[in-house]
Amino acid sequence: MKKNNRKLLRHCLTEIWKHEPQSLLMAGGLAVADALLPLVPALLSWLFVEGLARGESFGRLAVTAGIGAAVLFVLNALRGKMYHCGLPHTEDCNDRMEWEYSEKTMTMDYASLDSQEAAYLRAKIRNDYNWGSGAYFMIPQFQRLCSAVLGIAAAAVMMLPVLSRGSFWLHWSSPLFLVFAVALTGLSARSQEQVFVRTEALREEYDKKSARSDWLLENLTYKEGKDIRIYRAQPMILAAMRETERDRMVDGESRMEGRAGALDGAVSGLLMGGSYLFIVLRALQGALSAGSVVLFASAIYRLCESLKLFARSRSEIYRNARRMESSLEYLELPGLLPEGERAVEQTDKAVDIEFRDVTFCYPGSKIPALSHVSLHLRPGEKTAVVGRNGSGKTTMIKLLCRLYDPQEGQILLNGKDIREYRYEEYLRLFSVVFQDFFLLAAPLGENVAASREYDQERVRKCLEEAGFGPRLARMEKGLKTELYRVLASDGVEISGGEAQKIALARALYKDSPVVILDEPTAALDPISEYEVYSGFRGLVGQRTAVFISHRLSSCRFCDRILVFQDGKLVQEGTHEELQAEREGLYSRMWEAQAQYYQEEQEDGSGQLPALE
Ligand code: ADP
Repeated sequence: MKKNNRKLLRHCLTEIWKHEPQSLLMAGGLAVADALLPLVPALLSWLFVEGLARGESFGRLAVTAGIGAAVLFVLNALRGKMYHCGLPHTEDCNDRMEWEYSEKTMTMDYASLDSQEAAYLRAKIRNDYNWGSGAYFMIPQFQRLCSAVLGIAAAAVMMLPVLSRGSFWLHWSSPLFLVFAVALTGLSARSQEQVFVRTEALREEYDKKSARSDWLLENLTYKEGKDIRIYRAQPMILAAMRETERDRMVDGESRMEGRAGALDGAVSGLLMGGSYLFIVLRALQGALSAGSVVLFASAIYRLCESLKLFARSRSEIYRNARRMESSLEYLELPGLLPEGERAVEQTDKAVDIEFRDVTFCYPGSKIPALSHVSLHLRPGEKTAVVGRNGSGKTTMIKLLCRLYDPQEGQILLNGKDIREYRYEEYLRLFSVVFQDFFLLAAPLGENVAASREYDQERVRKCLEEAGFGPRLARMEKGLKTELYRVLASDGVEISGGEAQKIALARALYKDSPVVILDEPTAALDPISEYEVYSGFRGLVGQRTAVFISHRLSSCRFCDRILVFQDGKLVQEGTHEELQAEREGLYSRMWEAQAQYYQEEQEDGSGQLPALE
């Protein structure tokens, strides 16, 4: 349910206070200065007129002028100082809130990250940011709102000496003027409110229309450039961008804001005109002295300006609060995976893993990606997992790493349900090279160690074991070489195969008791592929290893092979055992692959033979 504007604003301000209270204190201080500063000339004018009327001496009036100038100087100096001291706090607050958002993204459990709700909120946060939201905007808006409220209060105080006189209200014009002023102010506030509601609706509609174009814009990098050129996708992309009808939205918004601005101007003019008429009338009736006329006129001007500022800044700050709502909701997304308390002890290095009748559907899907799977990974055993695309191999790995929890069944580590263990400690058991692994735009050594500090010798050794040694030897800056050119002009663009080797080195460097490689050779050249396969046992040593591969010949390096089909484990055994099951999926896949390679060789196409 949507929070109401006031509640939401309070929530946003509490968040800002939590991160950087000084930013709001400084904004409050600035608002006080902004409200007080215009009072000084008004009070001075009042004092001068009253003084002249009383026939005060030049010396006395000069002292009043001197005090006024001194007060103005101090207030202005204080304001300037506070502004410059406040600015870094505003920036800091904005940064901290952005870090909190990034930290949440990196630490929330993976199942929540993959949920529809999180994806929707992330897209909304991006749109909200594009419209200009966050603490960076809210703090100055808060300052303006405070200064409007204080300005109204200051104007009321200036009017108090006159308004508090009972006789003042006895004339018909006083209550009439009050009704007139309140009605006009209400009209102006209402029009601002309507603009706010309507422009929000327009922007929401625009955000929906621009989702595809935003995604396309984000992905127009040199990597996508190849496909865009080859498939001549430019017209399609440009058409998607035009579909957003940004011009229509901007037109609509500026028309509404223009109308509200005109109404605002008319209201101001009427209010000022009416106010002066009223003052003159009351002065002529002898209800106001000359000094009071000056003070009252300034107060009314102040009041009009402050009311206008209040209506505008209230709309602005509510709008910003609505835009921060997505971030606040994102920060509050609950974890979907409960965490256990059991410690993963050192003795757990000899890991024994069991899936017991595990069934799992991805968030938002009703079709099981894994259905009633039972399997056993024994300590130190090397297991290959094979099956057609989409058969559930990677899902099995994701469940093993507890990126998701199964809806049915149990996964056990050394006889205990993995949900009982402390999550961070449990994750330390695994080194995984996912198919869609991710390397950072950072120095090579830091990428391998996933840390700024690292053991150079060990990083080098892991890179060599992963087959990256010759490429490393050609890198002038060695482990300090920046990967990718996005951040460093001397960065190095690496090929898919080279990246895969680095990802493999990262898995080795982590030195976990379980190593999982999901299609680790998909991007490797045949010689590198051969080196990984033949060196596989040496690479993983005594560790428990799981190895997903489409190259069935590689499975022969493993102790046991698991065959998946449509989310089910359909066969299990050694290469010889599975080949003996002539009708089984494994032998059919084997035949299909062997036939392909034989044909290739008979072709004389010069392809490397399969490693059989
Ligand atoms: P494999 O690794 O055997 O190719 P996966 O385990 O990746 O297959 O996928 C099994 C099934 O789960 C597929 O039908 C795939 O579309 C679906 N799937 C994979 N990842 C997700 C996800 N994050 N959300 C929804 N469905 C998914």
